[in-house]
Amino acid sequence: ETRSDCPPDVEELGRSTWTLLHSMAATYPEKANMEHQANMGGFLKFFAKLYPCWVCADDFQAWMAHPSGRNQPKLESRKEFGWWMCEAHNEVNRKLGKKEFDCRLWEERWRTGWKDGRCD
Ligand code: FAD
Repeated sequence: ETRSDCPPDVEELGRSTWTLLHSMAATYPEKANMEHQANMGGFLKFFAKLYPCWVCADDFQAWMAHPSGRNQPKLESRKEFGWWMCEAHNEVNRKLGKKEFDCRLWEERWRTGWKDGRCD
């Protein structure tokens, strides 16, 4: 049975959104110029305000704005940005009691495909 032609619930919305967000990291420049960094920074800021699950959005904004500055988006390179996105996702995983993802594997999951060739 498929729910794919029904309005998305929080879970389906989340899965689709993580696909978009990690794919944006996967296609981010290896070295990002100032314009790219500013565009992505702006996108994330507005995304965190507009994400259509309001509790999710509030928590995500608060996490990004941690007073220490440690959760600010890291936008200089694809590697840093992909790692940051993985940490952001892990923060939500922890909150929901899900397993944490090993961020060393984010690029295989979202950019190159697994080394064993199962995505070829
Ligand atoms: P998802 O968490 O959607 O993950 C999809 C796939 O991504 C996984 O199968 C795995 O292959 C991969 N993956 C998992 N973790 C990582 C990682 N750290 N880095 C890279 N890849 C990874 N739901 C709520 O109920 N409450 C909330 O407050 C909430 N906040 C959210 C905030 C944001 C910004 C987003 C985008 C989603 C939020 N969600 C929230 C939805 C939630 O994160 C999940 O998407 C949803 O519960 C479905 O989970 P899932 O188990 O199918 O896998």
